[in-house]
Amino acid sequence: MTRLAPGTKLVVATHNKGKLAEFRDLLGPHGIALTSAGELGLPEPAETGTLYAENAAIKARAATAATGLPAISDDSGLAIDALDGAPGLFTADWAGNPRDFAAAMARVDRELLLRGVQTTGAKAHFVSALCLTWPGGTEQIFEGRVFGTLVWPPRGEKGFGYDPMFLPDGHTLTFGEMGPEAKHGLPPKGAGLSHRARAFMKLAQSVLGDAAGKA
Ligand code: IMP
Repeated sequence: MTRLAPGTKLVVATHNKGKLAEFRDLLGPHGIALTSAGELGLPEPAETGTLYAENAAIKARAATAATGLPAISDDSGLAIDALDGAPGLFTADWAGNPRDFAAAMARVDRELLLRGVQTTGAKAHFVSALCLTWPGGTEQIFEGRVFGTLVWPPRGEKGFGYDPMFLPDGHTLTFGEMGPEAKHGLPPKGAGLSHRARAFMKLAQSVLGDAAGKA
């Protein structure tokens, strides 16, 4: 079975509350009952892949193996052109432990300065690879990207992670200044904006029987 019917119990393979909130925004309206690896106290597997899709699969597989339930995970990151794609797969690591995203954003500003590049206006994109794993062993991957530029200083208190320093192309508000509805930009009002919403629309088309991927 590779269809998420209303009432399906699904584990979100994350310990990141920001991501979990976004999955609740995206999947809640479809009647999917979500719990998370964090809420269940599952251990976080080591993300040893060299691609977003590999790391997403490692996380979702571990959650399905531990619970016997279908699981969804997101592996995502911010790629900055002038930093040769960094922080990329290490986007979360730049926030240290415990996570401090103000410090992570300050590091981005510092690294760009070291290369003589102004942070405001620097080209960047977010990537999201979603992996859906099913108890029978089936795995599905969906990817989305959003292109934009960075701003310094960061703007806005909404969202999570690097949202306050990311201005999506064609918009005047950073992700940190947008509410979730604007950040996702899902149909019928939008055509999909955030990397996660764009990946989610592909997932919705495939497993929710929802051509528009609307929430
Ligand atoms: P991972 O996928 O758990 O390895 O971590 C990805 C990291 O990328 C997160 O910790 C966030 O810092 C950052 N990130 C991913 N998606 C977003 C987003 O939508 N907004 C802001 N930061 C994000």
